[in-house]
Amino acid sequence: MTDQAFATLTTNDAYTKAVLHRTTKRLVVLATPQVSDSMRKVLETVFAEVIMVDVLDELAITLTKLHCWLLIQYSKCVSMDADTLVLGNIDDLFEREEISAGPDPRWPDYFNSEVFIYQPSQGSFDGGDQGLLNTFFFVFSLLFFLRLNIRKHLPFIYNLSSISIYSHLPAFKVFGVSAKVVHFLYRSNHGIIFMIPKQKVSKFLILWWNIFTNNVLPLLQQFGLVKDTC
Ligand code: UDP
Ligand code: MN
Repeated sequence: MTDQAFATLTTNDAYTKAVLHRTTKRLVVLATPQVSDSMRKVLETVFAEVIMVDVLDELAITLTKLHCWLLIQYSKCVSMDADTLVLGNIDDLFEREEISAGPDPRWPDYFNSEVFIYQPSQGSFDGGDQGLLNTFFFVFSLLFFLRLNIRKHLPFIYNLSSISIYSHLPAFKVFGVSAKVVHFLYRSNHGIIFMIPKQKVSKFLILWWNIFTNNVLPLLQQFGLVKDTC
């Protein structure tokens, strides 16, 4: 389906390294001017569209992802953080109503949006001078809406974060096997991390590094972004 897309945001080269993993759907990435030219070329080899947007950092840089509502060439999209890893086919997400999103296991839940399904429309968010007010209104009404619409909460398996594992280890041991999307944490001093109690390195982290080494690193080398190691 070419009128449906997975949308991702990256505002710098470090996050760009995280978004470069393969899935089967049409892929779109929103990139800000801080992403270098070479890294944009790398993105173009993986993503069907690389769309340049301005940073919306009045509240938090991550709100720049609100630009995804402007992808009106698509009838429905799934927005995913750059630090998610897809473990299996998740095209079924497109069968869900907008707006469906995962439950947020932590503060601050101003915009719980690691993975969410939405229908692009220019009216929802204008991104222009009125952007800040609209952003406030939009984010808080979205939160309110999600709290009231528990039906539209995505199951945990679409947003498995280490935080939820820490607080619910027995549940993870039983249900973790059906995880479809893993949500890592990206920390500038540690890179990508995912911790499971009592384990030195999680199998998700190993998988992420394998994909990075086999699929992403060669591209970064090809475009002169890394030499021998990264
Ligand atoms: N992001 C980005 N640059 C940044 C911070 C965030 O491109 O400096 C994007 C990226 O897609 C990231 C998303 O915004 O996955 C949400 O940020 P992050 O994953 O760090 O937040 P968390 O999920 O830890 O709350
Ligand atoms: Mn994230």
